[in-house]
Parts: sequence; C-alpha cells; structure tokens
Amino acid sequence: MAEKDFYKTLGVERTATPEEIKKAYRTLAMKFHPDRNKDNPKAEEKFKELNEAYDVLKDEEKRATYDRLGASAFDGSRGGPGPGGAAGFGAFSDIFEDMFGDFMGGRGRGGGGTTRGSDLQYTMEISLEDSYKGKDARIKIPVNDACDKCSGSGAEPGTKPVKCGTCEGVGRVRQQQGFFTIERTCPTCGGAGQTIANPCTKCGGSGHVRKEKTLQVKIPAGVEHGRRIRLSGEGEAGSRGGPRGDLYVLLAVKPHKFFRREGANLYCRVPIPVTKAALGGEVEVPTIEGSRSKVKIPAGTQTGQQFRLKGKGMTMLNSDAKGDLYIEIFVETPVNLDKKQKALLEDLDKSMGGNGAGKNSPESSGFFSRMKEFWGDLKE
Ligand SMILES: [Zn+2]
Ligand SMILES: [Zn+2]
Repeated sequence: MAEKDFYKTLGVERTATPEEIKKAYRTLAMKFHPDRNKDNPKAEEKFKELNEAYDVLKDEEKRATYDRLGASAFDGSRGGPGPGGAAGFGAFSDIFEDMFGDFMGGRGRGGGGTTRGSDLQYTMEISLEDSYKGKDARIKIPVNDACDKCSGSGAEPGTKPVKCGTCEGVGRVRQQQGFFTIERTCPTCGGAGQTIANPCTKCGGSGHVRKEKTLQVKIPAGVEHGRRIRLSGEGEAGSRGGPRGDLYVLLAVKPHKFFRREGANLYCRVPIPVTKAALGGEVEVPTIEGSRSKVKIPAGTQTGQQFRLKGKGMTMLNSDAKGDLYIEIFVETPVNLDKKQKALLEDLDKSMGGNGAGKNSPESSGFFSRMKEFWGDLKE
C-alpha cells in the first residue's frame, strides 16, 4: 500500500502555513461531510482521510514527525515510533470520554455521583390520516420518578446518606499495580461517594418509584413511518439528582386500506371490470382527506395504467405543499359467468377474430407474431 500523503489529501503544499492547512481542511470537510453526502458512500471514507490528515498537520510536533518519518509514524497497528502514537480514533475517543464525563454531571470529581437518567423510546402507532393532518396525541408512559418520600435521596426521611468508607467520599479508589496507579469507580458506593444506612421504605433506597405519566406529543403533518420525535428531559429520572434522560417517540404509520405512500405521493390500486376498461367510464376513488374523487377512465384502459390526481397526495413535512394521488388501474377478468354471459363472450371472441389475433388486441397480435418468428427460428 502506498504511503498516505497528508498534504495531498488536504490539497496543500508541504510549505503551507497552519492557516492555509486549516482553511483547506474546513473547505473540504464541509464538502465531504457525511451528513451532506448521504448518497455518496465514498464521501465518508474521504471525510475520514481528511480528519486523519488534519489531525497530524494541525499539530506542530506531529507535523514535524510526519515530515521526517511519514504517515507510518502515526499508524498504531504498525507500531510507529512517533510521539502521539495512533492519531486516528484513539485520540478521538479520549476527547469523547472527556466530553461525556462532563455530560455525566462530573462523576468522580469529588463524590457528587449523579447519573443522567436513561433515554426511553416509545413506539406510537398512527394512521396515515393522522400523518396527513398532524395530530396532538396524548401518551401514557411508565417512568421512574424521583421518590416523593425521600426526595430521591434513597435514604429514609430523617436519616442521611453517610460518607462511603471505602473511598472516603471521593467515589473513586486507587489501586497500585506495579509501577502504575489505576483509578477506578468505587465498588462499594458505585461512585456516589456515599452509602445509605437506612434505605427509604417506599423506594427501597433506589431513590425513585415507578409512575405513569401522561404526555402531550405534537405530531407534525406529513411525518413518515420511522420518524422519531424527541421530548427532551422526559426520560428516566437521573439518580441522586442527576438530569433526566430524553424520551423518543418512534412513529409507526399503520398500513392503510387503500393507500400506499411513496414520499409525498400516494398510490391507490383500483380494480375495474373488463367491460368498463374496454368501453370507458368513470370510477369513484377515496381520497386521504376523507372525500371522494371521480376519475374518467378512457376506453381501452389497460392494467397498470396510472391516472394522477394532482395535490391529492400526502402533506409534505414543514410545508403547505401536497403530493399527488396516483390511481393504478387493475382490470379484473370476469368470473362466475352464467350461460348467457358465456355465449356473449364467445360471440365477442369470434367477432374479434379469435385467439386475440386482431386489431382489437394489438399487443396480443404482436406477441403471437413474434412467437411464430421465434418458433420458425428454432426449426432452422
Ligand atoms: Zn424513597
Ligand atoms: Zn465509595
């Protein structure tokens, strides 16, 4: 494999200034950001390469190492000698953990020990009509709420949590292993820094109780199957005063009796008798807004033919525009014929030349003549 050229990746000279490198990176990163390139699988790869290159070139020390030793100095799997070691995901995960540590309410930084509550997901079934019009829905969800008896502390009222003896209230313990000191979460108090001597009788010391909660959810008109709505702070209660998680309402649109949705358009399969298909006429079709529409069917309509009703489709999300409704015709062959009907059809068949080989059935005629040719070719 050829050695990666980080300068080439960013499209800059080897003599480029830090500002030039930064500018080049920004421009390219915007261009190849995966969120903007959902249809281009190569963009993600390119985006990763850009980050890898920028991660090295933005840092004076790493850049100097790279100039001397090349990209292999930064490839952890090859055991490169350079400072900084694996510049790729290792560095990234550190940053992520730092950020996450902050979100977690400073756990381990002096025995606060709060934990953010879990996110919850609630699947809500809605009808296609609900999706068309939008809806103010109410949902009942079971949640862990802070216990009202102990105010979420987990300790019986009148008593207080006591400082954890194992970690002296710090929430973390240090262990000596050879030359290293390893710090980890205190196993006794789970990082809280305190233990409960007299657990609350209502919640058993957990600090929360199970409750049913009613929530209002606004479903915007036009939402599609699988869309999630986030209700911030409506998830599980955090422990020991930590922030609540979020609630995600996953919308599942039930299949409709008549309509199939594709983007903003609706499709409705309408069966018509063969006579109407041949003679032409009118059919009445349902619409999603709850009314009906009449559609003219020209003489000689075939199965699969579509007719468009403009603006009778779905509502588009965050817009006043509407999609279209397509009527898909399906010609139904008559069944359960009585004697007279059969005779009529036989007469009709004769008048059409029999075996579908006349001007009344151009497609069949074409098919049969092509088939004859095909058989002729086989004999030779
Ligand atoms: Zn309690
Ligand atoms: Zn402890």
